[in-house]
Amino acid sequence: MLQSSKSPRSLRKNSVPGPGVPSAAEAAIHFGRRTVRLEAAPLQNMGYLRVFQRPAGKILCFPSWHASALVVAIVTLWCLAIPAVAATWSVRAVPAGLVNGGPVLFRVKTTARIESLTGKWLGHEFPFSFDRSSKTWFGLAGVSFETLPGQYVLELSGQRKAGDPFTFTQKFSVRAGSYPKIRAQLTVEGKFTEPTPDQLKQIDADQKVKEDYLSRVTPDREWDGNFVAPAHAEISDVYGSQRIFNGKAQRPHFGLDYRVPTGTPVAAMNKGTVLLARPLYFEGNLVVIDHGQGLLTLYLHLSEIKVKEGESVSRGQEIGLSGGTGRATGPHLHVAVRWQGTYLDPARLMQLQLP
Ligand SMILES: [Zn+2]
Repeated sequence: MLQSSKSPRSLRKNSVPGPGVPSAAEAAIHFGRRTVRLEAAPLQNMGYLRVFQRPAGKILCFPSWHASALVVAIVTLWCLAIPAVAATWSVRAVPAGLVNGGPVLFRVKTTARIESLTGKWLGHEFPFSFDRSSKTWFGLAGVSFETLPGQYVLELSGQRKAGDPFTFTQKFSVRAGSYPKIRAQLTVEGKFTEPTPDQLKQIDADQKVKEDYLSRVTPDREWDGNFVAPAHAEISDVYGSQRIFNGKAQRPHFGLDYRVPTGTPVAAMNKGTVLLARPLYFEGNLVVIDHGQGLLTLYLHLSEIKVKEGESVSRGQEIGLSGGTGRATGPHLHVAVRWQGTYLDPARLMQLQLP
């Protein structure tokens, strides 16, 4: 539970001292430009204390046989006054246990009437959408593989329907995910580990295409609901495993491999727009789907591409056939999930229950 940064700046109390019972007291509470004035006065001969919120009028009566009752009254009223102007917030991460390489859905519930919400998390900025059925703001983000275990701050900022912009923060813990280290020697054709000058030229050109296309962020959300498996087959290699090619250690495996023979239909994991559909040197026939808000899914080594760049696709739609093109030891499907330049675990994304 959080209070907005617009909590009262000051509580000022002026009481008229007297023997036993004070005669009157007031407190002024400042909320930004608004001021709530509270007054407390003893009811004559009745042993009670009347407390007023100006201009709202009388709110509570307190026994006045002790001076501390006045303090109690003022503190109580101060607490009562807060919900009128400062909303409560509940910020939750799904899954609750965050690990490096994992996607995360942040869910925000608030009593405040807000019209927009943005998150800042691990150096990334991402938008929130409003889910009417659960009255919850939600934003999909991720934790890069390189993120070390520790506490990290989610900073939320937004605009109220009436009033000033606001920000508030909450810390979340990230622990180390367990990813396998595979010491097996995988054999790949020499052209992929020591390319010729011509091949290097092609690799450079491909690199420029990837830098250009894969860094694009479409502001609107296209994904809708859960991400589904692109193929129904055995997993042959998981995300985060360390591979060794021809004795040389490579970067961790930033995708999920399905053991499928050439020609197996490959499905779009969610709704989106085809960003890339072309052959590249390492990736082979590649399809990249933009799901909006910086979230992409990539499908590699295809034997056939069945969609065109710019085309809209629905979840589960066939986008191509599996194969072994590009840098592949044999036919398989490599799928990857990219969020704002960082690769996330596709298996963890598919486990997330999404609005
Ligand atoms: Zn792979």
